[in-house]
Amino acid sequence: MTAPLSRVVIAGGGSAGWMAAAALSQALAGTGVAIALVESEEIGTVGVGEATIPPIHGFNQMIGVDEAEFVKATGGTFKLGIEFVDWAKRGARYFHPFGRYGDDFGLVPFHQQWLAARAAGDRTPLSAYSLSTLAAMDGKFGLPQGGAQTVFATYGYAYHFDAGRYAAYLRRLSESRGVVRHEGRIDTVERDAQTGFVRALRLRDGSVVAGDLFLDCTGFRALLIGEALGVPYQDWSHWLPCDRAVAVPSATAGPPLPYTRSTARDAGWQWRIPLQHRIGNGHVYCSGFATDAEAEALLLANLEAAPIGDPRRLRFTTGRRARAWEGNVVAVGLSGGFLEPLESTSLHLIQSAINILLRWFPDSSFDPAVRAEYNRLVAREWDAIRDFLVLHYVATERDDTPFWRHCRNITPPDTLAEKMALFARTGRLLEREGDLFVEASWLSVLLGQGVTPQGFDVLAASIPAPVRAKILGAMRLTIANAAATLPSHEATIARSFRAAQETMS
Ligand code: FAD
Repeated sequence: MTAPLSRVVIAGGGSAGWMAAAALSQALAGTGVAIALVESEEIGTVGVGEATIPPIHGFNQMIGVDEAEFVKATGGTFKLGIEFVDWAKRGARYFHPFGRYGDDFGLVPFHQQWLAARAAGDRTPLSAYSLSTLAAMDGKFGLPQGGAQTVFATYGYAYHFDAGRYAAYLRRLSESRGVVRHEGRIDTVERDAQTGFVRALRLRDGSVVAGDLFLDCTGFRALLIGEALGVPYQDWSHWLPCDRAVAVPSATAGPPLPYTRSTARDAGWQWRIPLQHRIGNGHVYCSGFATDAEAEALLLANLEAAPIGDPRRLRFTTGRRARAWEGNVVAVGLSGGFLEPLESTSLHLIQSAINILLRWFPDSSFDPAVRAEYNRLVAREWDAIRDFLVLHYVATERDDTPFWRHCRNITPPDTLAEKMALFARTGRLLEREGDLFVEASWLSVLLGQGVTPQGFDVLAASIPAPVRAKILGAMRLTIANAAATLPSHEATIARSFRAAQETMS
């Protein structure tokens, strides 16, 4: 006979801690499980993490937030995808849109029809079949209208928001649902001598926060999973070489763009994330190819408007914990690993860890099989995202700096190498169970980075060429018409999502 847990302790109050608190307080309401969170204002949070991907809608739904209230409270804007500049080669641009390209017809995926048309001489870019891309490039954004039968079923969006305001918003929500916050620095992690399980956190002021299940949300410090339990970290810098970042906000420069921009630099890349009240900027780089001072100077030289405050330097090692759950400790957030911010996946990985934990929530027996399944599911998702990120670095024609020559010579993970090779030969995309990024994402980045298929699926020929051309033409028109009807991103924000004036500075 097993007993339910009675106390969950969340160590850390960054985005990971408060996302976990908001989700668990909602999901565990009425079960009698008490939730406590410990954080230290003196230590603070990593303070970045402002771009998201569409699955965040599921998280917001789960915790029961109202979209307008959430966007206003966080100074948020809408994100239709990411524009990549200078990645494949200097001067080249492509867009990774949320949502889908076109609509399948015939016996094959849509892009196979596009490849067949291309083989017959049609030079229309794939982006002409993406509503999110057309809207983004025109500075437009409107909430999707109509249902699954309309072109809006192919449209996807996420948000940009202020990381500090996001944590504050989730804190208010969590505390209103009974989460008890303890302010203070964790000095000691107390463990059971026999089982090795964590029993309590002792804070600097001598107080003790005891629990049954502990979520380690202490960021890169990884106080529980790393320092106390010694779970090894798998270092992936041989695949994802960037290991530093410098971040600085700047003043707004015109209406906010409805997308993130990632611009490749000599030893890494620079992000631009538009919010209502400022622009988030950062330069992610590899310390083997640029000094901190050089990286900071390059960032400051490439801002569109005056910086707000001093640049902030961050260090990291890409990779993940060998096991996200050990004993009665589950690592959520940066304590569990970091894949660098290239495709804005970290907040998603927090959300996903929470979802999987709720599906495999332990009882007091802490069944090892439950833990093993959790670890398998989490690892699978991290590994799949890793492959997608590595693709951006290895599939490039750039050889103009030592960093890019290094990247071109990275040996990709076997799983990625297989996927790239099959696509290059046949245009087919291997999909694996647990993939976060699916067809449209891989297509945009593979094609954008210059991996062009030599062939296409022969079954595309089930549609005669003139019929295919007609269908493709009609699809383009529908998508272009839909994009034309959308309001500007600025107008959508002004109508229903504007943050209160006092929070705009
Ligand atoms: P932190 O924010 O570091 O929080 C750790 C918490 O633990 C803090 O509350 C701290 O006070 C507490 N703590 C630590 N030690 C102690 C102690 N001894 N006692 C008490 N409390 C303690 N993600 C995205 O999804 N999109 C992005 O665009 C994005 N960009 C990023 C850019 C960079 C350069 C980096 C480094 C990360 C980025 N991320 C992004 C990741 C994102 O910032 C994190 O995943 C997210 O903020 C969660 O961080 P965290 O809560 O795990 O850690």
